[in-house]
Amino acid sequence: MAECTCDIVLAPEPKARAQQLWSHSTVRRHVYPTLRSLLGEMAAGRERCMYCGDNQGTDVDHFDPIDRHPMRAFDWTNHVLACSLCNSHLKKAVFPLDLDGNPLLIDPTAEDPTPHLRLVLAVGQYHPLTPRGEATVKLFDLNRGLLAKGRVHAFHVTKACVAQWAGATAKGDHDAAAHWAAVVNEQPMADVVQAMLHQALDPAAEILFDDDPLLLTHLREPGLRAALLLR
Ligand SMILES: [Zn+2]
Repeated sequence: MAECTCDIVLAPEPKARAQQLWSHSTVRRHVYPTLRSLLGEMAAGRERCMYCGDNQGTDVDHFDPIDRHPMRAFDWTNHVLACSLCNSHLKKAVFPLDLDGNPLLIDPTAEDPTPHLRLVLAVGQYHPLTPRGEATVKLFDLNRGLLAKGRVHAFHVTKACVAQWAGATAKGDHDAAAHWAAVVNEQPMADVVQAMLHQALDPAAEILFDDDPLLLTHLREPGLRAALLLR
């Protein structure tokens, strides 16, 4: 990838050269498979899309599009495992900027989305907290019906698994506890459990979880957080 970047830097037309190299058969044979494989290992659940969290990640997307920033065509931190819906139908080469020319989309390789987006767990929808959160929800259509329903389902499944984890832990059955943590980590919509863990530490957590105080207690337990956080 470093050799490819040097090639692009020296090319008279960097954008055209970056596009050419990215689809070149040598790159497809010798660079792409490793890149795709590493991103698959890093993706949440079973290789879920790093934008929507729901579909299988089938494509390697350039977060900063090649047309805009050809020097980043082979920059490791510019690659995101994405589903074809997010990559080819929603984001495409769109890359909105604010009035100062700064990117509006939240970069999933480098940024915590929490300051920009609040997931309303009961309805599975994102409430944007900043213009960047708003732009990200809009471009990826993150509040569309199927995603919201999937997040509500993941919320209920996670609650049930957390209860099972707590029961197994109380009995000293660590294998069973690990099993229930793995069930959570394997399911799509990893953003749901991360939101639950973040919101459990929110100053308003008692209000957010007022219908299930036992769940809040479990979500604050270091053992559960270690098993689930940032997996
Ligand atoms: Zn997606």
